[in-house]
Amino acid sequence: NSTSSAEADAPASATSRPIPAVLGADLEVPVKGGRLVGYANLDYAASAPCLEPVSAAVTAALPAYSSVHRGAGYASQLTTARYEQARHTVRAFVGARPDDAVIFTRNTTDATNLLAGCLPAGTTTVVFDTEHHASLLPWPDAVRLAPPAFPGEAVRAADEALAGIDGPKLLVVTAASNVTGELWPIAALAHIAHRHGARILVDAAQLVPHRPVNLTALDLDYVAFSGHKLYAPFGAGALVGRRDWLAGGEPYLKGGGAVRSVGEDVEWHDDPEPRHEAGTPNVLGAIALAAACDALTATGWTELVCEEERLIDRLRSGLASIAGVRELSLWGDDHPRVGIVSFTVAGYSAREVAEVLSGEHGIGVRDGKFCAHPFVRHLLGASDGGCDDDTASAVRASIGIGSTQEHVDRLIEALRDLVAR
Ligand code: PLP
Repeated sequence: NSTSSAEADAPASATSRPIPAVLGADLEVPVKGGRLVGYANLDYAASAPCLEPVSAAVTAALPAYSSVHRGAGYASQLTTARYEQARHTVRAFVGARPDDAVIFTRNTTDATNLLAGCLPAGTTTVVFDTEHHASLLPWPDAVRLAPPAFPGEAVRAADEALAGIDGPKLLVVTAASNVTGELWPIAALAHIAHRHGARILVDAAQLVPHRPVNLTALDLDYVAFSGHKLYAPFGAGALVGRRDWLAGGEPYLKGGGAVRSVGEDVEWHDDPEPRHEAGTPNVLGAIALAAACDALTATGWTELVCEEERLIDRLRSGLASIAGVRELSLWGDDHPRVGIVSFTVAGYSAREVAEVLSGEHGIGVRDGKFCAHPFVRHLLGASDGGCDDDTASAVRASIGIGSTQEHVDRLIEALRDLVAR
């Protein structure tokens, strides 16, 4: 099964450390009647809580910082070293090739848009309708493929579409769905893309918090992801991949740092990192992102995946045991997935369910179409009723480090209670 290839590359964690704690684990929130209950955060796919080692790394960097790459002063030198070390850590975390570019961005959306601005003239992009809008929308001339009925169909559809395109081509695919959590066959898709002389961009926003990814082993051209889904606070993400398109593209932002010299003419840097990182970068965001990468690597994926699978299996079998609750799935119950599950509850809108879970039980979930409108409509068999169409919405519960069995059980009990009303 090619979908398991991301997992197969898990680095052996000979010296694994305990799973780190997250901030806010003891947060209490008010529920109906004024009671305080422990917050059950089941919304990791939106933004994951900050890991303690991440908070510590940011705190350690605060006493002496200054702008990078600009000054001879101690603080500037130190900050530059920390920023470049963060780049190095991100490179290692995704198993990038030595000559790949590692560009710090604001988030995944920023990363996909950056790459979109660097495509060689005449590039055709191929994208599935299952994508998050961050990966669906940045491409001006996209060929859009219908949601495939099974993983092999995804590979076949990409094969057919790419075969019919001349000139430069890019296949864009999300490795783990933010709607169903299902893992996509990215190694097989990379193989097909390369057979047709295309490149592949993998949206790894929901993969990297849950599974290792290795650009080199999977033969991916680009990956994009966000720090705030990877247990770091907001503001930093990364685009990692082949240098040539990035070196040739228009600088993403125009300003200081991206130029070699400015006179009558402007000479831009050829190296992608300065070229696309104009202005004072989000150094603390980069440090946080790198600290999260380090913390996950130090813990080891075997342990992390094991605990996540225990909880998500419990959550999914709990959902399956409630009449009227339907889990959304593209490829069926047994298809491998990360700790994300979306569902509907008969007789209630997604918003009503989310409000009851929050207001009566202190459970945070997400409701809506999860910035994947075509995909959610497809899964619900709904027609295009517009963005506010409440009937074409679902509830999403997502877990990660810091999620507990009590959180999962509370969700299931709350849904049972709701359905029984
Ligand atoms: N791709 C996927 C699969 C996502 O789940 C998300 C966010 O939910 C994004 C891209 C966009 O991430 P960001 O909002 O951090 O840019």
